[in-house]
Amino acid sequence: MKARAIGLAFGLLASAAAAQDAPEQTLFTNVHVFDGLNEQRIENASVLVEGNLIKTVSTDAIDAPDATVIDGGGRTLSPGFIETHAHLMLMGPSIPAMEANATWEDFGIHGTRMAEMYLMQGFTTVRDAGGANGGLRRAIDAGQILGPRYYPSGAFLGTRGGHADFASFTSPPGASTNFGRLNMAQEVDSVADVQKFGRNNFRMGATQLKYMQSGGVVSAFDPWQLLAGSPEEIEAAVQVANEYGSYVMAHSYRKEAIMNALNAGVKSIEHGFSFDCEIAALMNEKGAYITTNLTAFDPGLLEIPAVASVPSSLAKAKSASETFAGYIDNMRECPVKRGFQTDCVGSVEACNIQIAYEKKLNNDFFGPLTSMVTLTSTGGEIVALSGDFMNPYPAGKLGVIEEGAYADILLIDGNPLEDFSVVGTGDQWFGADPRPESPETIRLIMKDGVIYKNTLQ
Ligand SMILES: [Zn+2]
Repeated sequence: MKARAIGLAFGLLASAAAAQDAPEQTLFTNVHVFDGLNEQRIENASVLVEGNLIKTVSTDAIDAPDATVIDGGGRTLSPGFIETHAHLMLMGPSIPAMEANATWEDFGIHGTRMAEMYLMQGFTTVRDAGGANGGLRRAIDAGQILGPRYYPSGAFLGTRGGHADFASFTSPPGASTNFGRLNMAQEVDSVADVQKFGRNNFRMGATQLKYMQSGGVVSAFDPWQLLAGSPEEIEAAVQVANEYGSYVMAHSYRKEAIMNALNAGVKSIEHGFSFDCEIAALMNEKGAYITTNLTAFDPGLLEIPAVASVPSSLAKAKSASETFAGYIDNMRECPVKRGFQTDCVGSVEACNIQIAYEKKLNNDFFGPLTSMVTLTSTGGEIVALSGDFMNPYPAGKLGVIEEGAYADILLIDGNPLEDFSVVGTGDQWFGADPRPESPETIRLIMKDGVIYKNTLQ
């Protein structure tokens, strides 16, 4: 602004200054654009990036004499991928081990490495579903470390004995815990608790809240069928989120839990394993989303060590997989807006493998177009639910290639709508070889107008 004002006053001298201050431009030529929504790519197009936003998408030549030109060589230009349910801070190997032994340094170092891994896998945005506050985002956005745009949820909010109760077995209610001290998980057993710790999450840098409404399979105290939280408590979480113009994501398995959540105003159903067409109708009426970790439907799930070696977990897994058998078919029959979810808790190397396998299962179950939409534009809609005040990235849309959207861009060999493997899928989960730092077929990764990978030259 300053340079422009001076420019008006001092003519020639100042237009040189204005040119110096002009935002940098990058011009992608000779690309086929997947815009995040449509099966039909925009063929033989050019895309002009100015600063951190997309300025022009056109099938005509774009005149930008000062731009850095990148010849896409007929590759696919896609929005950067969006992960809508990760836990970057949780390194494993188990929740009790982290409660007993992990310090803020362990969590912080793991989160830093996870953030870089996600970016290099093509994910330019990650929503964290519990266990992270605002620090990692500040470091990424300040350019201190490499990582995606980041939407943390603060501490998991959950009831005593529920899916966010990470205290040791003999720990009495309300006792101080490692996860509680670090605001990574909080026990909430009343409307007042939900309000206090919900507000504290936003204070600590959360962009939305995460409420644990159901139990889990490989966790200690909670049946997966648990209906945690009274209607008043869930409504209190929604009310606190609304104070900040944001929303609640709820870990929900049972149908009653999902319906309660939707009726209370929850906008993002996590897992939602009892999904059916009645739920789909209510979701669409309420403008809600679901995120799916499809590895839960992997045929080999009952053989993985964390499940098979613990009799109570194996029993829970068997009853859950019987109840959830209709999930994929119901979702094909009654489609809803669905976000990509990996939900990995473990080493960076293991999560890299799990992400690649989750991509593959998306394509196996739903085909390439739905999977690409899930990985891009639907994720962008989900993170934007954080609203005008809490969204750290409010200047443009995410997950789409259109004028005015953020310049989060991948150049991919081939056409993922015909051969989905080019997005970096993996054929194996447990026992798979370590994966490369970045898929070879993803040739260029741009986030916020800055290039983090380019193997075109
Ligand atoms: Zn999770």
